[in-house]
Order: sequence, then structure tokens, then C-alpha cells
Amino acid sequence: MTQQRIAIVGMFLESNRYATVVSRENFHKTYGGNIIDDARSLSPKLLKEGQGFFAQMDAAGAWQAVPISMIIGGAGGPADDTFICEEIEKVKVTLTSQLPLDGIYILNHGAMTTTEQSDPDGLLYATVRDVVGASIPIITTIDLHANISQRMVDNASVIVSYRTDPHVDQFECGKEAADILLEMLAGMHPIVRNIRVPIVPPNVSLLTDNGPYGDLIDYGQSKINQEILNVSVVAGFAYSDTADNGLHVIVTSRNNPAAAQTLCLELAEMAWAMKERFLWDLVPIHKAVASAVTSGTDHSTPPILLADLGDNIGAGGPGNTLWLMESLYQAGAQDVFIGSFFDPTLVELATDIGIGKTFTAVFHGDTWARADATFVAEKAVVQYLHPGKFNITAGPLKGMLVNAGPMCLLDLGGIIVLATSRRPIVWPDPALIESMGIEIASIRTLVLKCRSNYRAVFNAYFDTERMIEVDTPGRTSPVLSRHEWTRIPRPSYPIDLEFDWQPGLR
Ligand SMILES: [Zn+2]
Repeated sequence: MTQQRIAIVGMFLESNRYATVVSRENFHKTYGGNIIDDARSLSPKLLKEGQGFFAQMDAAGAWQAVPISMIIGGAGGPADDTFICEEIEKVKVTLTSQLPLDGIYILNHGAMTTTEQSDPDGLLYATVRDVVGASIPIITTIDLHANISQRMVDNASVIVSYRTDPHVDQFECGKEAADILLEMLAGMHPIVRNIRVPIVPPNVSLLTDNGPYGDLIDYGQSKINQEILNVSVVAGFAYSDTADNGLHVIVTSRNNPAAAQTLCLELAEMAWAMKERFLWDLVPIHKAVASAVTSGTDHSTPPILLADLGDNIGAGGPGNTLWLMESLYQAGAQDVFIGSFFDPTLVELATDIGIGKTFTAVFHGDTWARADATFVAEKAVVQYLHPGKFNITAGPLKGMLVNAGPMCLLDLGGIIVLATSRRPIVWPDPALIESMGIEIASIRTLVLKCRSNYRAVFNAYFDTERMIEVDTPGRTSPVLSRHEWTRIPRPSYPIDLEFDWQPGLR
């Protein structure tokens, strides 16, 4: 029997309209056979869902992977439009040259915008569909922060979204995509129904261990059976600011339109009925700082972790806003570890000055809503210099090699800052911190420029109720009413609070 030929395409970026444009150079690009070599290597760089897809396909028997391209950008601003158009055109040409194909796997985030377009992911799906025709399965995996366009739904056979935030199930999603593809190749016919619920939830309300989003996802999963193949409840990424923002329910049945429709409507009604649960309280800076001061003086209390939500690197934050660091410094907080602060100039200077030396450190911060974007610490001691490459040893990115460029630890007098030079890092790995001579147990206040994924890493060290979500200003503030939106459909809850809505299929 001839082997099934399955094309592999990847395009992945979460775009925050307020963050810096993501250029061609910022994408990690892999083409052709290198994708397979990497996927089947001992420590693949391929995102986990891609690894899961390959693992499951390989376990199921002989197949022929037809690798096209893998364009991975993580999180940032809108992508450079010329680059994305070129890449999608390349996908078209390469796919066409590889026909006939039996199926396509698209590894996608789903919340990319470009400098010119608000739905390049949909353009990719439509392009692939045009090449292969209506009858070939196209299975995609997406982040649950994707903004779902009708073009995406219409051109994919099945969309499989993550179900966890923090994201710890990417590998499982990839395996599920492979299973669905294999089932389709064996003759299964999926029927998809989808609804946009006019809720644009603040990202802080989207943790899935508990809370409204977890309840919705769990309920959807409880309905998986012989008829219901997949339920993807996709909350979206508000900061993309697109016409497709909103909470999307996508239900896929095995050739059963009525079953898909009924469950889709039920979940949409359920989401709307619980909309008030997506309102979220954050802790003001002054209260968070007071807690940090107490934490530094009273060691009988458990340590605290402050999440600097206005500068969430995972959502496109630049990793160098100053508000929280300044306030902690001015309040004299002790045993604080700030990990991290992105400042190439400062790292270069500290490297020149050398370990053990004291200098006046000027931090160069984000200019968002500030007349003066610098902060001066009169006496900073260079405590450690690090070349910048390290492996993540815990959490959803475990095993990944990070190169943050040369880094330094600066002691500002009770506040230690990990400064990076090549890129901001979402969280310092616990093993990295300890390798630089800092015991995590000695940290009374850990500050991270991260919203949720740190939980999967640092819950071994900090009680959940001691993880404080701080209401800092910035490009990623979850207080959506503070930002200006031009494309999100209105009304959308909770940007708009007083309106009625009845679910209807799209
Ligand atoms: Zn996400």
C-alpha cells in the first residue's frame, strides 16, 4: 500500500497591536526536510503540538511527511506584511509542486495580524484549501487565544485548540489532530458548527484550572462521545484588535449536524450566562508594593510572586516597563528578585564594569505612557554575568533552549534584577536562578513580567494565593477599557457592559 502523503505547514504568531512589528528576522524559519530532521531529533525545536502530531502519526504506522515550512514568531506585534505574504505564496507554490497530497496539518497560533491584514491565518488556510481542493482533510491546531475568522473555519476541516491556560496540553492537541486526520483518512466526515459569543475576556480571567473558562471547557469536554469529535472553546486575544475578536465555540461532530449545532448553541448560551464571571479584580501597585515590603521584613509569612500584567512578555510586552521596579525601589522592599528586565545597553555596561563593582545603573524602559522612560539606581552592584543561553527545566516549555543574550544580575540594595540583552525572557528558569547563586528559597518577592504560564513553573515555590496579579500600566494591561480599540466588534463584553445578545450560528 502506498503511504499517505501529509503536508506539514506551520505559521505561529500572537500579535498585540500595541507591540513592536515582528520582522522577517524575528521569525524562526525552518523549511523542507529540516522540519522532519528536527521533529524526529532527540530535542526538537518544533513546538510541542507539532511534536505530538509527529509522534502520533509515527506510532500509527507508515506515512510520508511532506514538510513545507515552519514560520514561528511567538508573541509580539503585527507581523511584517511583505514577509507573511511571501511565505504564504511560498506555501502555495511548494504545496502545488507536491500534489497529490492526502492531508495537511497546519500548526498555527491563530491570533496573528500583519501590518496590513487582520486575518493572515485565514488567508493561509484559504490558500492551502485552494491548492488541495475541497475533499482533502486540513487539520489545524491553535492556541486558545486565537481569534477565529469564518475564513479559518470554512477552510479547515477541523480546528483543534489548546484546552489549558497555562498551556500544558500542546503535545496532546497535536496527537488529537493526528488522530482526527487518521480518522478522516479512514472515511470519517466531520461537520463543524461555530458561534461567536460577544465576550472579549480579559486574559487574566482565562485560567482553566478553575474559573469560568475552565468550566466552559470542562463542560464541552464532558460532551465528547461517539457523535461529538471535538469541542474547542476559543477565548481569543483581545490585544490583536480584529473584527474576529470574541469568544468562539467550535463544535465538530462525526457527520452529525444536529448534534454539533445543539451543543454549540448550548455552550454559547452557557458562556453568555456566565459573562460576569469574566470580570476580574487586579491588585493596585501600591498594595502589591506594601505586600512586598511586608514580605521582606516578616519572614514568617510565605513569599509572594508579583505578576507585572501591563508588561506581559507572552502577550507582546517589551519586558522593560519601569513602574513596578521603581515603586519597589522607592519603598525600600528587600529580598526582591526581578526576572527579567530587557536592557541591552545596561547589560553591556555592567559587563564592561565587571563582577563585584558598583556603579550608577540607568534602566532604559518602555516609553508607553511615560515622559521619562529611565530609572536610576544610584548604587548597583554587578553580582553575576551570564552568557545568556540556558535550558528551561520546568513548566510548559521544559527542554527548550533559550538564548537571551548576555545577561547580568544587578543588586540595587535588596532588589536583584536579572537584565537580558538579546530578548526579554518570560520567566527565569528556577535552575537558571540557582545557577547564578540565588536560592529561590531566599527570594521573598519574585517579580515576573508574565501573566499565567509562570504558574506551571513556580507553583512548586509559591502558594497560589500568594501569586498577586498587579494592575500595572502598559501595552498588555488586561483592563481592556483603558485601551483604544478600532476593530473589535461592538458591543463586546466587558468593554461594553449593558447589552443583550441571543446566540445564533454564524
Ligand atoms: Zn496562548
